[in-house]
Parts: sequence; structure tokens; C-alpha cells
Amino acid sequence: MTNPRAYMDWNATAPLLPAAHEAFVRVADMEGNPSSVHREGRAVRAEIESARRVVADALGAKSANITFTSGATEAANMVLTPDFRMGRSPLAFGRLYVSGIEHKAVFEGGRFGETDVSVYSVDHNGVADLAMLQAMLEAHDKTAGLPMVALMLANNETGAIQPVAEAAKIVHANGGILVVDAVQAFGRMPLDIEALDADFLIVSSHKIGGPKGAGALVARGETMMPTALIRGGGQERGHRSGTENAAAIAGFGAAARDMKDCLDERGLALAVRRDALELELRAIAPAIVIHAENVERLPNTTFFSLQGLKSETGQIAFDIEGVALSAGSACSSGKVGESHVLKGMGLDPRMGALRISFGSTTTEADIERTIEAFRRLTSRMRKADAV
Ligand code: PLP
Repeated sequence: MTNPRAYMDWNATAPLLPAAHEAFVRVADMEGNPSSVHREGRAVRAEIESARRVVADALGAKSANITFTSGATEAANMVLTPDFRMGRSPLAFGRLYVSGIEHKAVFEGGRFGETDVSVYSVDHNGVADLAMLQAMLEAHDKTAGLPMVALMLANNETGAIQPVAEAAKIVHANGGILVVDAVQAFGRMPLDIEALDADFLIVSSHKIGGPKGAGALVARGETMMPTALIRGGGQERGHRSGTENAAAIAGFGAAARDMKDCLDERGLALAVRRDALELELRAIAPAIVIHAENVERLPNTTFFSLQGLKSETGQIAFDIEGVALSAGSACSSGKVGESHVLKGMGLDPRMGALRISFGSTTTEADIERTIEAFRRLTSRMRKADAV
């Protein structure tokens, strides 16, 4: 039986993988507290530590440097702070530099004061302007602390891949550290903290087919860490107190294991499909604008605009046709807001844009349904124009 709906919003949340579901349910049924010393507690602890090893391995990091959190937003708020420790000594960051296309979890600046956050631009393709970043870092006044820079690896709306390793060189040459939001890149392209030369990575479980409500802050080294955001019982080596969400973490580990096995093959297959889909969309509406089309992009993402097609009406029209897609980042209120990413790219943020994002279990029928929905939608637009 064919699925009556096509789920094309994987960048908002990827469907739960069977292996993640199995691990989640199994660990949710375990009775121990992972901090308890008895056998029941140790069994849950073993699940968390196994997930930690898998997540670390998938990112080229050491498992001791993974701090599990409730998700990427918490990890961002944990690391984006002026107050760090280098071993036992305090270490201060005076200013945070974020690109104009960061996800709100980062763009809001975490624990930095509003006036201590500067934004550096992106070009019309949505790729960070490193010359501007360099100029800003060269002008940075170190008396109040070192510079901290955030640059995401892949943008959640356009999918555009950012020049992270190049940015790292500039940041380090200017005595700063680089925090990389790798939420959308994780599972969709090879990822290695050493190769990226990043100081911290932020990842989230539900974008790779794990449960919602788990994520991690990944540090490259052991000694430099932000002061804890959540204090209490000292779990996660004192970096994040509170009893761990063991079931979600186990599911996260299972998803990371599954994803690592055939990442390259999957990426290639997704790109082939994305290119075929875009050809069809363009054949239906030659005036379509596919954002970041001419730069390296995630293989699963198409973010497009069409004159006269508003985000909100487009989203609803696709939904009625049985296609779940979104207007960009998933807003907590469910409202379609103006895209700060489009604005950052120098485009009119009121310009309607829709995002199709899919993944490994997307079928040909899902793609077909999406194309047909677009065909009907544009044909209705043409008829309305003709009246
Ligand atoms: N960063 C990016 C690029 C995202 O796409 C998202 C989720 O939409 C987040 C951060 C926040 O992740 P979480 O839902 O785990 O807090």
C-alpha cells in the first residue's frame, strides 16, 4: 500500500530509525538511575557510555569529550558563554561573532549579552564572508576577553555548506575559538572535528533519526570547557547536571551507528534524487529560484522561491496535497516567520520560500507526490493570474 502522505521535512526532524526506536524503548524500560552503583544503575550507565562512544566515533572525537544535553539548543546555550575554564583557571571570551545565517539557537548568542554579539555577513549564495570575519577579528579588542566565533557547517534552510576549516584558520590566527553547529551536516556528509579544526561541535539526535530531546556538545580537547549551564548533581563530569535522558541518548547512539555505516552511499543517492527533483520543478516552473544552487549544498535539501508563491499558502497547499514540507526553520509557534537566512543573503525576507528536505527512506512515490503537488499548485496560480 502506498503511503498517503509524503514526509519531506527531514531538516525539521528526521523520522525515527527502527534501531533508534528499539534502543529507546529498551532503555526506557530499564529501572536504574545511571548514577547509582548497583547493577540496575550500572546497566543504564553502560547504555549511555556505549552511545557516547558511537557518537564520538562518528565525529572523530574522544568519548570523554562528549557532553550529552537535551538537544542542540541546550548545547549552544552551554558553549556560547563568556565564562570558560582552562583546567582550573578562568578563561574569558569578550565577544561572540556569529554568521548572519546561524540557526536561532546560536544566532541569539547564548549567554553573551546582546551588545556582545556581532554578526558577520554571508554572500548572495548564503556562504559566510570570511574576509569580513577576518577584518572583525583583527579589530577585536582582547582586553575584555578572547573572540569566540560561531559558523554552522550546513545551513538548515538552504543546505549551503560553509567554509569551516578555512574559518578555523582565521579564528585561531586571531587567538579565538570556533564553535560549529553541525546539526544539519551530521549524518548527511562526512564529519570529523579534527579535519574541521573546530574547537566545539553541536549535534542533535532528532536530525539523524534518533529521538527528540537529546544532543551533545562535543569538545576537541579536554581542558577548555564552558562553565556549566545546568548545575546540580554533577552528572556528565560536572558539565551538565541532571539525570541523563538515558532512553533518548541510547536512541541517539543507535541512530549514529546506523548512519555511519553507509553515509557516503546514502549521500550520493540523495544528491542524484535531489538533482532529478529540481529538474522536474524547473520544467514545471522555469522561473523557480533555487537558493544556494551554485554552491556546495547538503544532498537532501532544496530551498526555492517562485514569484507569487507565498510561504504560508505554499505550505498549506502542499499539506492539503499530502506533502509535509516547510518554509524554512521549524518555528516553535508553528507560525511562518520571515526568514533571517534570506535576509542575510540580501534577499527580501518577505519573499516566499519553501524547503523540501528528505532522506534515506524517502521513496520515489514521495518524490512523485511532491512534483505532482507542485504541478497542481502552479497550474492553479496560472489560472488565478489569467482571471
Ligand atoms: N541548529 C540547527 C542548524 C538546526 O537546524 C536546529 C533545529 O532545527 C537546531 C540547531 C536546534 O536543535 P534542537 O532541536 O536539538 O534544539
